[in-house]
Amino acid sequence: MASKRRKKANYTAILIRRDPAFSKCPSCGKYHTLRRSQTRNLIEGFLKKATIFKPFRCNNCGWRGFKSTITLTWESVRNVALYAGFAILVGFIVLEILKRFVR
Ligand SMILES: [Zn+2]
Repeated sequence: MASKRRKKANYTAILIRRDPAFSKCPSCGKYHTLRRSQTRNLIEGFLKKATIFKPFRCNNCGWRGFKSTITLTWESVRNVALYAGFAILVGFIVLEILKRFVR
């Protein structure tokens, strides 16, 4: 078969979207067993619509619960810290320049 080209990871992305359907079941630890579950009540419906947590059910062990559809990666956390530090530095320099020239 033709070789599949893997997409290069985007290291500048702050949040990485993922589909928990391909992740591990928290109860039985098996992969590819999670399926989207129907909401049972208004609170679950609200959570599903308003948050990044969606209801899932495990086909293998019957586990049901909410899982995040977005995950933070260590690269993204590091990048955010780097950009924040850089922004503070630039802000400090601008402030010092303004102090000298604006009287
Ligand atoms: Zn399971």
